[in-house]
Amino acid sequence: MKVGFISLIGKPNAGKSTLTNTLVGEKVSIVSWKPQTTRNKILGIANSPDYQMVIVDTPGIHKAKNALSKYMMKSVETGQEGVEVIVYVMAMDKKLDDTDFANIKKYSVGDTPFVIALNKCDEVDQSAIMERIASLKDVEGVDSIIPISALTGKNTDMLKDRLLQLLPDGERFFDEDIYTDKSMRFMAAEIIREKALRNLDEEIPYGIGVLINKFEYQNNGVVSIDADIVCEKQSHKAIVIGKGGAMIKKISTQSRQDIENMVDGKVFLNLYVRVKEDWRESDFLLNQLGYNLKDLKD
Ligand code: GDP
Ligand code: MG
Repeated sequence: MKVGFISLIGKPNAGKSTLTNTLVGEKVSIVSWKPQTTRNKILGIANSPDYQMVIVDTPGIHKAKNALSKYMMKSVETGQEGVEVIVYVMAMDKKLDDTDFANIKKYSVGDTPFVIALNKCDEVDQSAIMERIASLKDVEGVDSIIPISALTGKNTDMLKDRLLQLLPDGERFFDEDIYTDKSMRFMAAEIIREKALRNLDEEIPYGIGVLINKFEYQNNGVVSIDADIVCEKQSHKAIVIGKGGAMIKKISTQSRQDIENMVDGKVFLNLYVRVKEDWRESDFLLNQLGYNLKDLKD
């Protein structure tokens, strides 16, 4: 099957979120998540028996240094960008300007196929579309220019078909039912990691990992989460915990608030700090991918 990461870039209001909705379709839910950081921001996952398109809103996924993204990159043998296709979404009701050309130049230089989606074509007439295509067709490194309306769905199938042609064959990254907790677990881990890094600043030189050991929806609608913040050294553990537990408390409160936004409900979060020796690398990866290690070992 065709699998891979597709990044949608473009100016604000170009229609990226709307296009994500259209590409993902009704059958699959959107993982809409607004993190403080710009890394790994997954907008949606489009599933079918023949493909899995993971739509992200930044081409910077290759900069992520956590084990999962490295694993992903390795398993799909992607190019330098860490995504398989970059789509530049441009609104037709706005004039083509220098920023557009600068953006296109910046992101089309690599080996990653670069597609331009001319969005909001329902707002303009055919001649405007032809004119826009003419202005862009000689720009180097552009795979294709596809006029669409993300809102009405016009031509979005054509865009999807082209994207699928550009994706490699492989196995799906995420469960088909993304409301299983796997992607939520992954994002909860990312949120905790981001809060930890932000608060710890430069104090932890080798970084930390986050492992979700429990992610359960309780009957009362509360999500109960147990997670480990894993650091490299014993001395780092003390820093993560902080004086009288002040640091871990801060990380925990901030993480809980963001996770509550993500799951749209109440969250109980128990954070523990552990030193990495306790974990084998393979266990670490499996946990990050959302597998319950106890289940696997039984
Ligand atoms: P983003 O900031 O790039 O994510 O843009 P959004 O998807 O939030 O869209 C910004 C606005 O443009 C919203 O009001 C959308 O309803 C509207 N919009 C998006 N796509 C289209 C389209 O194809 N046609 C028209 N007419 N409006 C659109
Ligand atoms: Mg948006």
